[in-house]
Amino acid sequence: MKQKRAYKYRIYPTDEQKQMLARTFGCCRFVYNWALRQKTDAFYNEQRRLYYKDLSEALTQLKKQPEYIWLSLVSSVPLQQALRHLDKAFLNFFEGRAEYPKFKKRHNQQSATYTDNAFRWDGHSLTLAKMDESLDIVWSRPLPDGAKPSSITITKDCANRYFVSILVEEDIARLPSTDTSIGADLGLKSFVVLSDGEAVGNPKFFHKDEKKLAKAQRRHAKKKKGSKNREKARKKVAKIHARITDRRRDFSHKLSTRLIRENQTICVEDLAVKNMVKNHKLSKAISDVSWSEFVSQLEYKAKWYGRHLVKIDKWYPSSKRCFDCGHILDSLSLDVREWTCPECGVHHDRDINAAKNLHAVGLTVFEACGEAVRPGAVKAKPGTPQRNRKAS
Ligand SMILES: [Zn+2]
Repeated sequence: MKQKRAYKYRIYPTDEQKQMLARTFGCCRFVYNWALRQKTDAFYNEQRRLYYKDLSEALTQLKKQPEYIWLSLVSSVPLQQALRHLDKAFLNFFEGRAEYPKFKKRHNQQSATYTDNAFRWDGHSLTLAKMDESLDIVWSRPLPDGAKPSSITITKDCANRYFVSILVEEDIARLPSTDTSIGADLGLKSFVVLSDGEAVGNPKFFHKDEKKLAKAQRRHAKKKKGSKNREKARKKVAKIHARITDRRRDFSHKLSTRLIRENQTICVEDLAVKNMVKNHKLSKAISDVSWSEFVSQLEYKAKWYGRHLVKIDKWYPSSKRCFDCGHILDSLSLDVREWTCPECGVHHDRDINAAKNLHAVGLTVFEACGEAVRPGAVKAKPGTPQRNRKAS
């Protein structure tokens, strides 16, 4: 089965390329923000929805106006793609996966996407539209043989590092099926606690970086706005942040691949973005973000390899329910690591008990769906087992 897969590499653009990229990022950001404004205004003022087609036409008109002539200095493809990204952001919003799209800022990560009519790939090197030289790419792993990139995205992160993400279609062989399954819960002390009792992701591994980040953020906040020192402090924060993100992602990829390899069905708690409680505690915020990234990795890897992911609604009382007898506690505060069930007397480790509950309810839901489920993710609200989506 053909699947789309992205390969990401570090790149080192020349000064000239950096200039062109900076201009392109700026124009993409402008177009995205302009279109977001158009969409929002059209909706609030006229209760009208603008679609990609409308905005694409409006953009063509905009570029003809003398004061926006600078939009024509960059390739038009990434600008069209910026409109597509906005469409995707709205889709994610309407389907409850994300918040309302926000304006893009100059200081955040920048990106530009090129489809295959705006870059040249000769099997070894990649050259972008409006550029003479090919990109200097660090091939940290090979692209699959004969890969034909369908689109590429250039990003510049807050620590001023440049990356290229190359999207290719490839045949991914399904893993032989197995009858093992597991539940995974977002742990308090470890990143993930599995229903077989294993805790993965020693927090100490991340803790040092997080402390450094908190310190750098405090220093940044104290500097005078607009000062050189503030800019320096901001870069320092960005650098630490980038390192944390890299390490987390690397860890998360290894773990998601391992769980997918070992299990046919994986049951996890679904922390939808919109349900995420705003939390000012840094480490909690970071772990929530990593968790949603981890779950989305499980989701697409499940699809690739023919596995099943069951996502359990976060309101299911996985922590407060005794796995052994089903008794549900009235409350269980976050600092309680272990508890004894008043009903049956079994002593529980908080996280393992939760993972076991997720595992059990996930399998129940999954079996209720039966064979109709395709590989990939199943979303489930326990208590109302999902039926086959098609009307009977
Ligand atoms: Zn009990």
